Amino acid sequence: MSLWLIAIEAPDRKAKIAGPVLSNEMRLEWVKLIKHLSERRPGLKVKIPKHKLDDPLKHGFRKSIGLHINHKHYRLTLPNGSCVHVEETKDHYIVHIDGTDPAVSPVRHLRCDAPGVWTAMCAGIGLTAGVLAGLGNEKQRTFSTIAGVLVGLAIGILTGKWGKK
Ligand SMILES: [Zn+2]
Repeated sequence: MSLWLIAIEAPDRKAKIAGPVLSNEMRLEWVKLIKHLSERRPGLKVKIPKHKLDDPLKHGFRKSIGLHINHKHYRLTLPNGSCVHVEETKDHYIVHIDGTDPAVSPVRHLRCDAPGVWTAMCAGIGLTAGVLAGLGNEKQRTFSTIAGVLVGLAIGILTGKWGKK
């Protein structure tokens, strides 16, 4: 029997199976896993049972934050400025490579690796700007609020990963 790595693509793409990569008896090493992942494009996720891997903190990873607040997150910066991002769930490590380490460039990380958050943030800024612009004028308030959100959304989509197809 062999272990299959389950690849979960980014939500806007179709799921694919990447394995088989290892035999069942083998423990997986972080170094090998990172090499395997970095040879593929960023965004590919692999899910690995926790007993197959050592504690990431023993292998140069640092504690970090991520989108899933109920998971534990670890990151390891790679020499090219990207980073390995590990999400720890109850039984699994979900590992992928982020194109940009948030420690190197938080804004670029959001734009490239979390376009949903980036776009929502831009829409939020637009909303705030719209509300502020409409403050003095009761009649114009709704219009400027909506316009603000739309402009923010557009900026978010155009400047984020979704805009560069
Ligand atoms: Zn990530």
